[in-house]
Amino acid sequence: MKTAAYAASKAGAQLAPFSIDRREPGENDVVIDVLFCGVCHSDLHQVKDEWGGAKFPMVPGHEIVGRVSKVGGGVKKFAVGNLVGVGCMVDACHGCRQCEQHHEQFCEKGCAYTYNSTEMDRTTPTYGGYSKQVVVTESFVLKVPENLDPAAAAPLLCAGITTWSPLRQWGCKKGDRVGVVGLGGLGHMAVKLAASMGAEVTMLSTSKAKEADAKKLGATGFAVTKDPETFTKLAGHFDLIIDTISAEHDLGAHLGLLRPYGTMVLLGVPPSPAAVHAFSLIGGNKRLAGSLIGGIQETQEMLDYCGQHSIVSDVEVIPVSQVNACYERMLKGDVRYRFVLDLATI
Ligand code: NAP
Ligand code: ZN
Repeated sequence: MKTAAYAASKAGAQLAPFSIDRREPGENDVVIDVLFCGVCHSDLHQVKDEWGGAKFPMVPGHEIVGRVSKVGGGVKKFAVGNLVGVGCMVDACHGCRQCEQHHEQFCEKGCAYTYNSTEMDRTTPTYGGYSKQVVVTESFVLKVPENLDPAAAAPLLCAGITTWSPLRQWGCKKGDRVGVVGLGGLGHMAVKLAASMGAEVTMLSTSKAKEADAKKLGATGFAVTKDPETFTKLAGHFDLIIDTISAEHDLGAHLGLLRPYGTMVLLGVPPSPAAVHAFSLIGGNKRLAGSLIGGIQETQEMLDYCGQHSIVSDVEVIPVSQVNACYERMLKGDVRYRFVLDLATI
């Protein structure tokens, strides 16, 4: 099936109209007419090949919400017309220990990412959600609660699960002091989700101008990380820090904000490695952890929770043709708080 899309032809190229051939739906496949696709900073890192090994042409997009338009004969969970989502993965081996434990993102054979990757046959390239239709095996399709606005729900498929998973893993609960670093797509979801779990959330941002928004999102505290005093005033304050910064920054300074036995989780992936002095961790038995998206079952739990609590992203919906301009704004931190492409405009 010919599908209209937007692609980058080589590293750093502007995205431009492109046509892809989607497979005809197999027995277990779901065909989804894409309504909206969020723009994640990971799209930008990959289009610029900042992590290495990028595959071109590249059709980014892993925050997909759409309606089912066709299903294969063996599909049980979905019917034509259902509101569904697809996140960062479209398949995995289904047989290894990680898949059995519902951690498909760590599939021992390597999962199939939604784009800049291949299907499990390791030859067919995958193309993401900056496109009119996607065809995905049923077990990697999520149910999106019908009470949520589809455009504002799209970012839950990456920004939502990526922040939900570490909050659950590290047991964010009522009264915990949680620091969220970087108020962008991931950061604003971390604030909303941690606040909904009863935590006392402080936003740590480079932009003083984002203070009022941070409070509206649910933060009770706000501090500017460009001000060195922040690191003395809040020293030893947090139980948990969720770090979403997409660029190089001083991890040691941020670790100083943790209480003893506290945990800082890295979600952002700056292009270069960061140095950490051992004393930043030894002084206080602190943990520096990472977290990669979340498994499929966990993603469904997050979507159901967001449905029950009416949690969605704050989005700026744009025509697909503005994607290059939105990348520029994202690079400047000028995003409030997720760009979402309207696929009706492609
Ligand atoms: P985003 O919307 O661009 O937000 C990133 C925020 O980081 C910015 O809004 C800004 O917030 C802050 N920031 C940017 N440059 C900075 C700098 N030089 N120094 C300090 N702060 C800076 O990006 P996103 O979509 O939330 O993604 C954030 C990162 O997470 C990216 O690296 C992305 O690839 C990664 N990611 C990881 C996973 C995972 O599974 N671990 C999943 C998705 C994305 P302020 O203006 O508030 O300072
Ligand atoms: Zn993402």
